[in-house]
Amino acid sequence: MKFNKNLYKLENKNSFSTAIDRIKAYKASHPNNRVISLGIGDVSFPVVSHIADKMIEAIKRETGSDFVGYGNYCGIPELIDAIRVNEYPNFSNEEIYVSDGTKTDSGSILEIFDKDAKIGIYNPTYPIYLNSTYSLNRDIELIDSDDQFNPVVPNKHFDVLYVCSPNNPTGINYSYDVLKALVDYAIKEGCVIIYDNVYFRFINSGVKSIYDVDGARKRAIELRSFSKHASFTGIRCSYYVVPNELHEDVNKYWRLRTVNRFNGASYVAQVGALASFDEEAKKDIDKNILYYKNNVNYLLDNFTRLGYGVSGGKDAPYIWVKAKDGLNSWEVFDKFLNELEIIIVPGIIFGSRGDGYFRVSALGKFEDIKEAINRIERYEKK
Ligand code: PLP
Repeated sequence: MKFNKNLYKLENKNSFSTAIDRIKAYKASHPNNRVISLGIGDVSFPVVSHIADKMIEAIKRETGSDFVGYGNYCGIPELIDAIRVNEYPNFSNEEIYVSDGTKTDSGSILEIFDKDAKIGIYNPTYPIYLNSTYSLNRDIELIDSDDQFNPVVPNKHFDVLYVCSPNNPTGINYSYDVLKALVDYAIKEGCVIIYDNVYFRFINSGVKSIYDVDGARKRAIELRSFSKHASFTGIRCSYYVVPNELHEDVNKYWRLRTVNRFNGASYVAQVGALASFDEEAKKDIDKNILYYKNNVNYLLDNFTRLGYGVSGGKDAPYIWVKAKDGLNSWEVFDKFLNELEIIIVPGIIFGSRGDGYFRVSALGKFEDIKEAINRIERYEKK
């Protein structure tokens, strides 16, 4: 068998599965203890009731003679329209695609490029860009971020650059100037930026979309999702923009590719996503986001008060914390797990530049976050 040998690279000890194994082992040997997770990348609020009601109506419609079957490969027209009106008024419906998750989209978007395209990702970032590229049997190069964890302008040619902002894990929303330098590079090099913007609803100030940056329409594909703000992590629905200005035929061929490769996101999920734009849903979604934002402010204040070097958090549900005493990522992970019974995410999972740091998430419940801070404080005072 001519096996994809790049799949071997997915077996990496610096991965979420190593962390999960250690957590499982700890919990198995301490079954009665309360282990608190500050590692959670999932949301903790369920989907809001207005969205659920609309999805139930959609399921009922699917039992009637006017049920919706195949055909909406790129998304149902009503949802595409709502996305354009609410978020991308300067684009056409033809440039917007609906899909079943940014995790899927960030990998499959590579099918737009030739197989020898030079692909770059920043270190540290969401590891799925690297791993899905390997799954597609393509090679990729890592580019170290600078000391403030900003993406640097590459000193060589890339055809594709993955940029995640606000970045997972650092929680940093890149500034206009940082992004403008990347867009200028992309224009000069004929490179395309895959801009993962799944945390856009957590942005308080600064660049909200890559298309706020001059010239980006010529060189960027932006990915967004309903996962994080509308609690669609299980329901699954995402969307992305492929601007006509990237190439005169890009939407003609990308549409052909999509029709031939994808049967569309679940109709019921799309109806739910559409309902997320209704006023009745928006107020509950906004309440959930505010809750997570309060969590993140509490984490920022308290980790800072306890003497940790902290960044991120202002525009994302994550803070990025430097381990004390020169501990590396796994040492600090083990210390938190074994001595404080708190789960954090080791920074090295997101790339070697993340070693010595850890990610703390605000997507959990406030009571747990407060208890975790109390434990850290008591431990530090010993
Ligand atoms: N992109 C980033 C940066 C993420 O952190 C995550 C999930 O944690 C995803 C994409 C996955 O999004 P989706 O649920 O739409 O697949």
